[in-house]
Amino acid sequence: MSAPVVVAVAPESPAERAGVVPGDRILAINDQIPRDVIQYQLLVDEPSLLLDVDRGGLRREVGVEKPAGSPLGVEVDSPLFDRVQTCDNHCEFCFIYQLPPGMRRSLYLKDDDYRLSFLYGNFTTLTRFTESDLERVVTERLSPLYVSIHATDPGKRSEMLRNRRGGTSLRWLRVLLDHGIEVHGQVVVCPGVNDGLWLEDTLAGVADRFSDLASLCVVPLGVSRHTSEERMRPHATGEAAFVVDTVEAWQQVFPARRRSSRPTGPPGSSGRSTGRRRRASGRPGWTARRRPCVSARGPAPRWPCSRANWAPRCWSRWSPRSPTGTCACSRWRTGSSAETSG
Ligand code: SF4
Repeated sequence: MSAPVVVAVAPESPAERAGVVPGDRILAINDQIPRDVIQYQLLVDEPSLLLDVDRGGLRREVGVEKPAGSPLGVEVDSPLFDRVQTCDNHCEFCFIYQLPPGMRRSLYLKDDDYRLSFLYGNFTTLTRFTESDLERVVTERLSPLYVSIHATDPGKRSEMLRNRRGGTSLRWLRVLLDHGIEVHGQVVVCPGVNDGLWLEDTLAGVADRFSDLASLCVVPLGVSRHTSEERMRPHATGEAAFVVDTVEAWQQVFPARRRSSRPTGPPGSSGRSTGRRRRASGRPGWTARRRPCVSARGPAPRWPCSRANWAPRCWSRWSPRSPTGTCACSRWRTGSSAETSG
């Protein structure tokens, strides 16, 4: 783990008065070694600090007294002092794979680190998120975070991220929302991959499972001439228009969905109720009532479900693009017709 290096000291600040100078490496603050600038900020909020400093190879201790919560007056060189969590996905649409060769190394870094999501708004897929990460996010209220969704169907998401964990990592999104973390979602729409009915399915999945997202942005794939992925191509005009139509239709659905699922609470409470509580309450809200169409279950997609699925459990009932009874749930039957919900 590297130590933060002081790159600037504010004039007249507590740090300057205590003798901290640019170039100092801060090894510990009150005997604690900060992992990143988030923890660093928490530590330097204390009124009485003892900095363990490396200056030109010589260690020294610097005491700082200041009002609690006031700035120390030090700028450090990096947001993360331990290793950045790198991405283990291999998305076809990754913008980093589409960079030309020979640029500076930092541009080729694929990060998937919730801390950079909190600090800079980087999107994370949560495929490397862990229990200890969750504990820290919740206890330190690292909110908002930004999560790449792309598809809510586990198989499609794994395919897009080219990572088995992509199929399961959205469970962390549900847990984050249940703990009151504000999360913004993103769907990168790749023509021929997750547009069309897959996009319908994704938006239905978001409405069903993640309606308490703060926002969801649907962005078109960007393709550079340096891509080597055969499937990646720009949207044709008709495809782009279909995406816009789809999103506009769902924009009518989401506010109503959010209103209907808006939690209530006792007077004086924040009014926030977790999705887990909503489901456990048995309240006949859409969250409790809606279930994936049974035609969606199964290991591998084979052919599109063409049945007019109007059973109570069918997602197509909530799809704005299926008003006439044609199944638009974009789920796939995987076996005999007996598997469909009817
Ligand atoms: S998750 Fe992001 S950084 Fe990682 S491969 Fe996919 S697009 Fe690239």
